[in-house]
Amino acid sequence: MRLLIKNGHIIDPKNGVDEVRDLLIADGVILSAGKNLADEDAQVLDASGKIVAPGLIDLHVHFREPGYEYKEDIETGSKAAAKGGVTTVVCMPNTKPVIDNGALVQYVMNRGREIGLTNVLTCGCISKGQQSGELSEIGELKAAGAVGISDDGRPVLSPSLMKKALEYAQMFDMPILSHSEDLDLVDGGSMNEGYMSTYLGLRGIPKSAESVAVSRDVLLAEETGGRLHVCHVSTKNAIEAIRNAKKRGAKITAETAPHYFSLTDRACDGFNTNAKMNPPLRDDEDVQAVITALADGTIDAIATDHAPHHFDEKELEFDQALNGIVGLETSLGVGVTYLVKTGKLTLSQLIEKMSVNPASILGIDKGTLGEGKPADIVIFDCENPYKVCVHEFESKGKNSPYDGFELYGKVKTTILGGKIVYQED
Ligand SMILES: [Zn+2]
Repeated sequence: MRLLIKNGHIIDPKNGVDEVRDLLIADGVILSAGKNLADEDAQVLDASGKIVAPGLIDLHVHFREPGYEYKEDIETGSKAAAKGGVTTVVCMPNTKPVIDNGALVQYVMNRGREIGLTNVLTCGCISKGQQSGELSEIGELKAAGAVGISDDGRPVLSPSLMKKALEYAQMFDMPILSHSEDLDLVDGGSMNEGYMSTYLGLRGIPKSAESVAVSRDVLLAEETGGRLHVCHVSTKNAIEAIRNAKKRGAKITAETAPHYFSLTDRACDGFNTNAKMNPPLRDDEDVQAVITALADGTIDAIATDHAPHHFDEKELEFDQALNGIVGLETSLGVGVTYLVKTGKLTLSQLIEKMSVNPASILGIDKGTLGEGKPADIVIFDCENPYKVCVHEFESKGKNSPYDGFELYGKVKTTILGGKIVYQED
């Protein structure tokens, strides 16, 4: 199996490459990169006018299996990833049952391998049953292949349990992916607290529901020396807490999601439940703070929080509808359109946020097109806009606020371990 990608604009931040080159792939790995490469035995892929980059790595997806296969399963989730240029995903363990033991970790990863469209990795739970009562067997989760631990979907209610988790996880060199939320402050709210919530007559969620919880978790990480990765950061004050703790040398990383730098709570107008997620869409000040934090490195990664739901779970009154949107098939487009086309990040910086940095957070040998590295690659078009249509999604979830949006950054080809797993017709 040899593949020669010709004349693509290669962006490989880890190796400082940002120019037109050819790329030769053999036996699943990158053999060489250079100008005017030729190989008689290779299948040739013309990438003229396209960007060729390391496959995207999404630290935060919900594939819903086991238990909620009517929303998504590992197969449809993998297809959505391949179509979105995402070659590695990290599943969150809030399935039914929750992934709090080694057998379930192995089940998810084996299923991902069988399907073979994206590298399916998973977190295990921080607490047994995600009940915030006692720690799960972190060593067992690690031995089974879990790449981190998380109670995502719910916060760890007890600060002392979170402290213990940060201490134990260190022994196994595991990051804690924290869903930092203060449920007491959420107090039944369904959207960001502010002008729009008042206008729509909906109970608001104050920004402090995030910033207070993030502050707690970064202080615990600092005290214990544990590795904390803060999920889906959406507010200015949470960012400030992370920025300050990083300056003091805490081992903290953070992610945001595409919706937090491209949309505000105005998207909830008309009681649009496809703009309902947790944390909620914020206001202009927060969107600006997220963009600044991406540019200055306070936020390390962009992850989708891909959260498919059944139509009936969204087609409800706003406060009754479930939280979450699908993201795998629009993340690159939203990133290119709202960060690169606006001049906030270079394309190389965007690839850092979507591939290089996620790989280093996970400690995996990916996110690079260096010779000898696994040939996980995305080829996309930055020049021509396209229109998002949710009915074309591979995901079972069609719950996206971007339906009908015009975006740049359409994925043309996705390659996983040297094999083409997606190609636009
Ligand atoms: Zn979460």
